Amino acid sequence: MRNGKREIFMKAIRGEATERPSIACVNQTGTYEQMEALGVKWPDANFDADLMARLAIGAHTILDFDAVRVPFCQTIEEEALGCGVLIGDDKNLPSIATHPYDIGMTPHFPEDFLDRGRVKVLCKALKKVKEEVGGEVAVMGGVIGPFTIVGELIGINDFLIATLKNPKMLHEFLRVATKAATQLARALLDAGADAICIEDMLASMDMISPAKYKELAWPWEEELTSRISSAPVILHICGRVNPIIKHMIATGATALSFEPKTDVTAVKQAIKEEGKQVGIIGGIATMEDLFFGDPEKAKSSALRAAEEGYNVIAPGCSIPPGTTTETLRAMLLRETEMLGG
Ligand SMILES: [Zn+2]
Repeated sequence: MRNGKREIFMKAIRGEATERPSIACVNQTGTYEQMEALGVKWPDANFDADLMARLAIGAHTILDFDAVRVPFCQTIEEEALGCGVLIGDDKNLPSIATHPYDIGMTPHFPEDFLDRGRVKVLCKALKKVKEEVGGEVAVMGGVIGPFTIVGELIGINDFLIATLKNPKMLHEFLRVATKAATQLARALLDAGADAICIEDMLASMDMISPAKYKELAWPWEEELTSRISSAPVILHICGRVNPIIKHMIATGATALSFEPKTDVTAVKQAIKEEGKQVGIIGGIATMEDLFFGDPEKAKSSALRAAEEGYNVIAPGCSIPPGTTTETLRAMLLRETEMLGG
């Protein structure tokens, strides 16, 4: 019997051989066309569990990917830790408006963290997604990396300055952020998630040096990963990750997700040298292939990604919501001989 979509994704993220490459997106999947087709829009889908679930399921029923995920935004832990959130609108995701701390203050972990903000909404949405499509596709829960959470608790400019001038003063913040991400990830696993995706956007080489990554981002990614390692963990970092790839592997993550500007041959070589089996996720450029691209571009990049040995062919980061369904479905490579239709 051929493996179903869920099995193919779960094997692929473990770096195991599959009958075809898995196709998915481990970052946000919402698009305006899916919203139109499903009769559900932002901002409501970021605040109501049923609507969040309905839009998330579009990655299965409309895009035909092997996995679905919640949430769409990257603000849930920060809101529960005290950040003010702008709700966004039908075109834009919620964003952080206010930062509760200055460097030098002592951060506080609220004991009722799991009852705050939209944490319960997110967990309820994941449970609903799991109940409705969990037999067919893999269900991912998304959390934010500790380094990125701290950036929003303090404000990104002050945070980046502190990484250079007062790195020791960030430790207590990073500890609190790791606790928050751990609790959220465990709650999502309790709700039925098959895998957790950690997105650590600020830990990108576009924002910090490899040395700062190793000093301030990596240890907490590693701790978070080890605390939730009962389930597969996907670590996503934006940009070109070659300078930090050995550390990303050493977090113990099941799979790594990055943008195609990364040299994937070097990634495969590093995994081999470390003696590990790690899934590789990506290959599709979110702007060039998807937003500014077309079905032909998306398809040729997907074919190249398959040849390069990506286990999961996926957008290298969040799907730009203006991307068309036709372009996203071109990633499926349905009519190609290689994948047997
Ligand atoms: Zn990214």
